Parts: sequence; structure tokens; C-alpha cells
Amino acid sequence: MPHVVIVGGGLAGLSLATKLVGRGEDWTVTVIEAQEKVGGRMTKEDISWEGGSASIDLGGQWVGPTHRLLLSLLKDLGLSVFPSPSEGNSILCFSRRTYFFEGTIDFAWMDGYEGKRPDFSPEVAEDFRQGWEKFCQLRDVLPRGKRPTEREWRSLDDETMGAWIERTFTTEEAKEYFRAETRFIGPLGPADPSQTSLLNCAFAQVIAPQGEEPEEFLVDGGMGQIPLMLRESLEKSGRATVRSGCVVTEVEVVEGGGKGGVRVWISRESESIKADVVALCIPPSRLSRLVFHPALPARHTTLFQRFPQGTCCKFLAVYDRPFWREKRLSGNSFFCSPDVLFEATADASKPGKPSGVLAVFIVGDLYFRWKKQFEGVETEKDPERRKSLETARNRVVLEELSRFYGEEALSPKAVVLGDWPANQFVGGAYSGHATPGTLTTVGEALGEAVGGRLFFGGTETALRWAGYLEGALESAERRALFRLWKSLSTTMMTNFLTSRYRWTWVDVLSEVNEAPGAGAQDPPAVVEENT
Ligand SMILES: Cc1cc2nc3c(=O)[nH]c(=O)nc-3n(C[C@H](O)[C@H](O)[C@H](O)COP(=O)(O)OP(=O)(O)OC[C@H]3O[C@@H](n4cnc5c(N)ncnc54)[C@H](O)[C@@H]3O)c2cc1C
Repeated sequence: MPHVVIVGGGLAGLSLATKLVGRGEDWTVTVIEAQEKVGGRMTKEDISWEGGSASIDLGGQWVGPTHRLLLSLLKDLGLSVFPSPSEGNSILCFSRRTYFFEGTIDFAWMDGYEGKRPDFSPEVAEDFRQGWEKFCQLRDVLPRGKRPTEREWRSLDDETMGAWIERTFTTEEAKEYFRAETRFIGPLGPADPSQTSLLNCAFAQVIAPQGEEPEEFLVDGGMGQIPLMLRESLEKSGRATVRSGCVVTEVEVVEGGGKGGVRVWISRESESIKADVVALCIPPSRLSRLVFHPALPARHTTLFQRFPQGTCCKFLAVYDRPFWREKRLSGNSFFCSPDVLFEATADASKPGKPSGVLAVFIVGDLYFRWKKQFEGVETEKDPERRKSLETARNRVVLEELSRFYGEEALSPKAVVLGDWPANQFVGGAYSGHATPGTLTTVGEALGEAVGGRLFFGGTETALRWAGYLEGALESAERRALFRLWKSLSTTMMTNFLTSRYRWTWVDVLSEVNEAPGAGAQDPPAVVEENT
């Protein structure tokens, strides 16, 4: 019975395992996860205090109406969604000025550039509008359904988004606001405009269009319960093993015709697991830490080095009630001002629960400035000193919050951190992004299989909603084409297994998609509302 090893127990790895197990009796699957908890960027923490408790999502939490695979998974698991709270005034802070808007803030990146903005002068507003239109023109010429890796896109790939903003806009305000929107909303990452290319930003808007409102819904009970549910059902199936707390360090392809395979080495355990094929569902930057025998093609290793994770900490302040609603504030805000520590907040409270949760996003340089003041807090041995350092670290954020939400913000029942840049097995949030010049030189290697035995998944490799939970599922569904191997023609199988470094899952997918009846099993995009 063929054995598949999946490295990485995030959403991509777990859903791929689920698809394989759902295939029937033909496979056994082992998922190996480095951390004690499965879920990767989709984990939760359960907390309690006197008189209350809450389940807090440390990573991915929102889902959009076009996240077809995720909505379908939620339905299968019996989980419902509800509209993300947005009633009341949102806060927009720009250049040290604070604006209050009824409803949500409209961003250019969300196709809403007519909307609620700082009170720009007509000259700045026109400058901003023209710049956005130029960006849309660039976006609209990019290919659909594939990455723009050809040399014809080289000039867009060579220029940083920051340089393009600088030469496209004429007013300082428009430049600054566009930079802030780009960093927070535009490209996947979040990446500073100076760290990623114009091509990467435009492509991100093609595959993950912000106008489709990816943050429209929240899940009843939270996203973080999903990995646990998937793990449980895999283990119950009797054909899958999930091993957490095991760090994969080396992957060795053993040649030998029909007897060949792959050995996956686990650190510290001097143990290796034999597999017929291995799917690596971990972020590209983490792949660069593994040792491969034989070495991967240079394109792959170079790509992994040029695909850093973004920098974001999700700081969650949990209150006994969503007190901001009493002040007619929505809890949603966007800050683009040198005097504010964080870039955004969102109301992440769950309906039917008395508690209120404010999610605060601390990104980019601001994150490092904040963390540097409290270095060593995580490793401090003395519990009392550690507690006081944590309190001081959290206080800095809470004081900022209180400037906008009032004194109640200073007294949360609990604070929980999704400190992703400090998580060595993920490396940052929300996802990885291509650095300038990467897509058109080694971009083809992203998600490309090697030698018929090594496959790569994970949200970064997706061609739709890369960087999102939906992208993690898309990458897994492509990998789930393992299950189609048997039904593919012998010729195709032979080609597939023998064409080293040539086939990719995308090739397989396009062949399968062209087959009559393909797509007939598409799940309906049903949204169950539970207000
Ligand atoms: C703060 C934050 C907010 C987000 N918000 C949203 C949102 O609202 N909506 C949305 O759609 N998306 C959101 N995202 C993105 C979404 O969470 C991710 O795209 C998705 O979870 C990625 O899943 P994955 O399986 O591809 O990768 P991961 O979740 O990163 O899984 C990879 C796994 O591999 C493991 N691993 C790494 N190295 C090794 C090794 N050597 N051996 C074994 N295991 C290893 C890691 O521990 C990890 O568990 C957010 C992410 C973050 C962090």
C-alpha cells in the first residue's frame, strides 16, 4: 500500500491528508508537524478568567464569499459563518489626523476609491485616483490562471512597488496613503512596498482581488477548531497518523526503480520514515532550512531564499464585553500615522458570547520597534519578572488602543499574542511574498514537483487566494490529485513519473480540467448566516 508523508500540519497538509484518506483503501498517510499543536497559521488558544472564557484565533480567522473551498469545508464540518461585525463608526488615522466613518473604510485596493478617505484636497484626490487607475491597467494585462514568470514581465518585476509609487504619484499625501494601503492590504505578506516588486503586487491583486472582500465573515466557534477536527477525523480513519512535535530536517530520495522511495528524517529522534511520495506543505522560507539528498535544482533553492514571510503580530485584547459598541464604534480601524504603533484593529468578537475581542495588527518596522524594547521576555526564567515584562509590553499597545477606544481598553481580561515572526516554524505572517526579480527568474519553481516523488504545497503555492486559508486548500486540492493517479491513462502516468523536474501539478490539473465532466463535483459556495 503506497505511503504518503506530508510535512507540515497546517491547513494545507491536513486537508491534503483528508483528501487522500477519503480516496479509499489505497493510501496510508503520515502527517508530520513540527509544533506540538497542529494548525500552523490557523491555531487557537483557549483562555479563561473569573466569570468567563473565550477561544481565540491566533492566525487566520476571516473568510470571504468567494472562498469556495473553505466555505465548502466549513459546511462539511457543520460550522456556520456570520458577518464580521461592522456596525458603528470606523476609525481612520492619517498623518496624525483622526477621522470617524459610519460603516467600513473604503480602500482603493478594495475597488472602492470613491469612498471614505481622509479629506484630501481635490489635487491629492485626483493624484490618488489616477495612480490607482494606472495600477489597475498594469494588473489587467497580467495572465490569468498562471504566474507571470516569463521574461516579458521582467521590467515590472525589477521595479519595487515603492519606486513605482514614488514616480507615479505627484503629491506626498497620495504617496503615503497608497504606501500604507499597499503594505496592509495590497500584496501578500504584508510586505513593505520597498521589499516587493510591482509585478508581485499586481499579481496579488489578480489572484486575491481585495474587492471580493476576503474578510466578510467569521466562523462560529472560530477557525482554530478546524485543524483539531481534521486531525481527529484523520486519526479515526485508521489510515492516517498525525505526529506533532516532530521537526523534519532532511529529505532523502532513494533511487531504485520500483523499490525506490523517500526517507524523511526527523531531528533528534534519529529516525526516518519511508514514503513513496512526500508532499512538503510548509512555507517556502522554511523549506530553505531543510537538507535534500540529492540537492534540489538550484531554481528551487534560490526561490526558497527569495520568498520571505511578512512581518505581523496579531495582538488580541479580550474584554468582558465589546465596550466600544456602546460608543458607536465598530472596532475596525486603519492607522497610517507615524505616531501610532499599529496599523489596524478589527472586532473579532463572536456572536452569542458576552466577551469582546479586539484584534490589533502590529506590522513591519513597527513590530520590531515594539519588540526590541522587551527583548528576552519569552525566555525570562523568573516567572515574576517575566510577568512584569509581559505586562509592560502589553501596556504599550493597550495605551495606544485607549487613545482611540477610551479608558476601558486599558483593562482587558486577557491578552493573547499570535507572534508569528517569532515562530521559527512559520517565520512570519500573513504569508510569504516574492522579492523583486524573483518571479521572472525562479518563479516557475514555486510549487513545482521534483522528480515525481517530491511535491510542494502550502498557501504560497496557490494560484487563487495565495496567502489565505483558501489558498492553503487550493494547494491541497491540487495535491489531492494524487488520488487521480489511478484513473489517469498509463501513458500520462509514465510521463508523470519519469519526467524529472518537468511536470507540475498545474500541468496535471489542466489535463484533468480538460477531461469531460471535470468540475462536476464542484461544491456549492453556500454561506450560512447566523446573526
Ligand atoms: C495573523 C494571521 C492572520 C491571518 N488572517 C487570515 C484571515 O483572516 N483569512 C485568511 O484566509 N487567511 C489568513 N491568514 C493566512 C492563513 O492563516 C494562512 O494562509 C494559512 O493558514 C496557511 O496554511 P498552510 O498550511 O499553507 O501553512 P502553515 O499554516 O504555515 O502550515 C505549515 C506547517 O508546517 C510546519 N512546519 C514548518 N517546518 C516544519 C518542519 N521542518 N517539519 C515539520 N513541520 C514543519 C509549521 O509548524 C506549520 O504548522 C492569516 C495568517 C496569520 C498568521
